[in-house]
Amino acid sequence: MSDNDHGLVIVVSGPGGVGKSTIVDELVKKDLQLWLSRSWTTRECRQGEAADAYKFVTRQQFEQHIADGGFLEWTSFLGNFYGTPTPNPPAGKDTVLEIEVDGAQQVKQLNADALLLFVLPPSRQEQKARLRGRGDPEQKVEKRLRKAEEEEPVGKAIADYVIVNDDLGSTVAEMSRIIIFERKQRHDR
Ligand code: 5GP
Repeated sequence: MSDNDHGLVIVVSGPGGVGKSTIVDELVKKDLQLWLSRSWTTRECRQGEAADAYKFVTRQQFEQHIADGGFLEWTSFLGNFYGTPTPNPPAGKDTVLEIEVDGAQQVKQLNADALLLFVLPPSRQEQKARLRGRGDPEQKVEKRLRKAEEEEPVGKAIADYVIVNDDLGSTVAEMSRIIIFERKQRHDR
């Protein structure tokens, strides 16, 4: 997977409860050159979650897709599988992946040119409130918080840019500026 063939690959990663999905939704609305990859997961669709937030599959379907070599990266996260199918963006588009840290690391290894944006919550309190707001049981929220604490140092270490999401509008604007700048850098190379 090289930039020449596939355009820029932008990985948006960050601990749970940081607002990644909202950020990427806004980013792709704002920048028409971006194409959002839809992940596969074996997790059940949450109440109130869009039916197309993921391709929701069984474990068997997921394992078959691994065997078929159909994923760019995949991982097991708190008991469920999540994976990015081999990206096939329309010509001229840059691919956006919204994935956790292990997947971000895999993508970086496959494509050193991938741009890794790591998003941090403004505070633990805010992060907890966001995680609780999804309606998950408290036990799951606690697990996700512990996982988030593990993910942070790794994500920070491998990121090209670290962005604190204290205000959605400014976060999206900052990320857009970074993407435009990095596109230009690669173009000028
Ligand atoms: P959630 O269950 O909250 O939707 O997702 C759990 C974590 O998995 C989040 O950090 C999310 O970004 C990540 N994730 C979603 N899709 C993928 C994927 O395709 N690959 C990887 N590695 N992580 C993913």
